[in-house]
Amino acid sequence: MGSSMDLILATGNKNKVAEMQPLLPAAIKVISLKDVGFEGDIPEDFDNLEDNSFQKAKHIWDRYQTNCLAEDTGLFVPSLGGEPGVYSARYAGPQRSDVDNIELLLQNLENQADRGAYFKTVMTLILGGVAYQFSGALEGQILYKAQGTAGFGYDPIFSHEEGKSLAEISKEAKSHISHRGIALREVIAFLERGTGA
Ligand code: IMP
Repeated sequence: MGSSMDLILATGNKNKVAEMQPLLPAAIKVISLKDVGFEGDIPEDFDNLEDNSFQKAKHIWDRYQTNCLAEDTGLFVPSLGGEPGVYSARYAGPQRSDVDNIELLLQNLENQADRGAYFKTVMTLILGGVAYQFSGALEGQILYKAQGTAGFGYDPIFSHEEGKSLAEISKEAKSHISHRGIALREVIAFLERGTGA
């Protein structure tokens, strides 16, 4: 990438920042919401990842007029009609508890033979006031119980291969295959093309 640029990562989720920051090239100076003094929650009022992702980025752009990157992610289980989907964070209630969400999902899958699932991330990049979207997905299975202590959210019950959960692999290994890693590499490739690198 030719010249450096400032980019606000429009998420208050430390786990997401920890996954994304190491993938970004040194020419991108990452600015956190804390750095700009943003407090509170960014709204996500829609019923789909695209609109929520855009709303988050626009909220930060409107306030700071600085290039920014937002994302929205959901875990989709087709045998449950796509649940928890866009409401993944609040699946078991407004307390947004990972433990409660996992318990409820395992309960709802008790009598389901088909445990196929996928994560999907939609990222919105706003550059100079213009929005661009990118997405990434990861297919797998919901395990029968939580396994591992790494990662966050539904990672302990999601397996991409051979019965190992995403909470049993390193952050680097997860980023290599994950919905968020795929989407972010698309963003980086776009930025590198755009700046003539
Ligand atoms: P949101 O994108 O912050 O609204 O997150 C939606 C829900 O999915 C939250 O419960 C997150 O903890 C969970 N989630 C988001 N990304 C991941 C991931 O990479 N692995 C596991 N759970 C995730």
